[in-house]
Amino acid sequence: MRSEYVIVGGGAGGLELACKLGRKLGPGKVMLVDSRLYHVWKPSLHEVAAGTLDIHQEGLSYQMLAHDRGFTFVYGEMTALDAGTKRITVAPVTAPTDGEEVLPQRSIDYGSLVISVGSTSNYFGVPGARENTISLNATEDAERFRLRLLRLLAQAEQEKGASDAAANATVTGSAVDGSAARSGMDIVIIGGGATGVELAAELREASSVYAAYGFNRLQVQRDVRITLLEGAPRILAPLPEKVSGAALRLLEQRAIRVVTDCRVTAIDKHQVSDNAGHVYPADMCVWAAGIRAPEFLGSLGLPTNKGGQIEVDSHLRVKDVPGVYAIGDCAACIDGKGKPVPPRAQAAHQQADFLLKTFMNMASGQPAQKNPYVYRDYGSLVSIGHQTTVGSLMGSLRGVSWFVEGFMARIMYLSLHLMHHQAVLGSVRTGVMAIARFLIRRTTPLVKLH
Ligand SMILES: Cc1cc2nc3c(=O)[nH]c(=O)nc-3n(C[C@H](O)[C@H](O)[C@H](O)COP(=O)(O)OP(=O)(O)OC[C@H]3O[C@@H](n4cnc5c(N)ncnc54)[C@H](O)[C@@H]3O)c2cc1C
Repeated sequence: MRSEYVIVGGGAGGLELACKLGRKLGPGKVMLVDSRLYHVWKPSLHEVAAGTLDIHQEGLSYQMLAHDRGFTFVYGEMTALDAGTKRITVAPVTAPTDGEEVLPQRSIDYGSLVISVGSTSNYFGVPGARENTISLNATEDAERFRLRLLRLLAQAEQEKGASDAAANATVTGSAVDGSAARSGMDIVIIGGGATGVELAAELREASSVYAAYGFNRLQVQRDVRITLLEGAPRILAPLPEKVSGAALRLLEQRAIRVVTDCRVTAIDKHQVSDNAGHVYPADMCVWAAGIRAPEFLGSLGLPTNKGGQIEVDSHLRVKDVPGVYAIGDCAACIDGKGKPVPPRAQAAHQQADFLLKTFMNMASGQPAQKNPYVYRDYGSLVSIGHQTTVGSLMGSLRGVSWFVEGFMARIMYLSLHLMHHQAVLGSVRTGVMAIARFLIRRTTPLVKLH
């Protein structure tokens, strides 16, 4: 197989690039490779995990998008690169049920290659973190979390029934065997950045709705205990203090315990320990404390930094490797103003647009692009459940930011996702229909129970 433009990773950056480039150049020239069949926008994963968003409704089929937007889709995981012959290897795909090979190993030759494979968790060597926590890196992680949450809620409900019956038996004088165990469940989230804060709030909202669906012995705020642990002196440390203070207040109003200055030193199956000797019981533990680039990037012979990200220049070109570019979370980019670009959806989106322009210039025989890529920070919004959002918006004047909170901030938060839908789905009609479906889903307080 060969394609002029091969994009590996159909996430926030790669999929937007494939859709926009495909629309202009067509499937003969644009190819997208992804290890999954469906695209789910990563910033929604905390909602999938809490059960407030259904991946079967939210997931966009790459095959369908390829057909509509004019690119070729290749299903499989990139495992190797030969930059000399400009060829990548895509691993065989096997059936999850019986391990039978569905697709063989494939080689793809490229003219230009864009690597946009996102990020994975950085456990910073904390013992037990990898084995005993769930991270929200992919839809499978979020689904695993959701099913585990349901199981634990059902178990807590059952135990509550048994302990109520035992209490009644004591009152009526029957014998009671055994000692009272810790009732309800404890969820510990490690990392008070945007992911941890959003997940904590979403879980509180989801557990209240779950209770209305038949777990009626549980008193949600008392029996579903949520603790957020943060190593820095405040949550949302990179954001202005006012945003962090507002988020803390909103979390505490939702009976979420927030512990700052807490350095986690070990995690086992049922508890988390910190360097001050505190122990936090945990029936379920989420790791949201840091990211790094996927490990396989280290084996491709490309320059990488300490976090495993591919080093690119301010035109997003991989240093000293002609024809290879990297964007999004997996790229370490110092932009045209000398600033490091943060791993965020808005950076991936902007970089996709930058490469679109570069490739369109190249396709029409012009020089790539004179001006380098400069990251534009439009601010940060953090969702605190489905009703409210807090954050800061950047003004066009340098360094000026506005604090925003409440319903309007919520609308602005949703607009980031809507912009992604619009970029991917393209046509106004399809975009409007998707947006209507999206808003209906977002305003319906249902959780997924099966
Ligand atoms: C819960 C949560 C909330 C967030 N909220 C925000 C927010 O509010 N605002 C914001 O700006 N950012 C937010 N982020 C960060 C944002 O999601 C990422 O910065 C963004 O998704 C990065 O885009 P990307 O294109 O680099 O990678 P991704 O969107 O992660 O996409 C990577 C793609 O590569 C594919 N892939 C991986 N390895 C391979 C391989 N070997 N071969 C083929 N395909 C592969 C994956 O299947 C995936 O489709 C959030 C993240 C999380 C987890």
